[in-house]
Amino acid sequence: MAKKTKKGKITIDRELCKGCHICIEVCPNNRIEVDEELNKKGYSPARPKENVSEGEKGCVGCAMCATVCPEVAIEVYRAQ
Ligand code: SF4
Ligand code: SF4
Repeated sequence: MAKKTKKGKITIDRELCKGCHICIEVCPNNRIEVDEELNKKGYSPARPKENVSEGEKGCVGCAMCATVCPEVAIEVYRAQ
């Protein structure tokens, strides 16, 4: 059976981010993590994970993270 994998990518504006980490909770594929380095406002922003570990799924571009972000700090890109 041919497996179609949807691919996506996100960017997070670390200076807009308020560190609420809701996006981390909603991502079904665990693609977002906490950046311990504080932003200029003094929050620990969220950042996209760089590597997909074995057994993990990559970003599928579902945009759930962007939908819940109260600061509109997340942009979602979908691969065609
Ligand atoms: S939901 Fe938005 S403001 Fe909250 S941690 Fe994620 S990117 Fe930052
Ligand atoms: S678009 Fe979906 S899969 Fe990608 S980081 Fe956001 S919530 Fe996770």
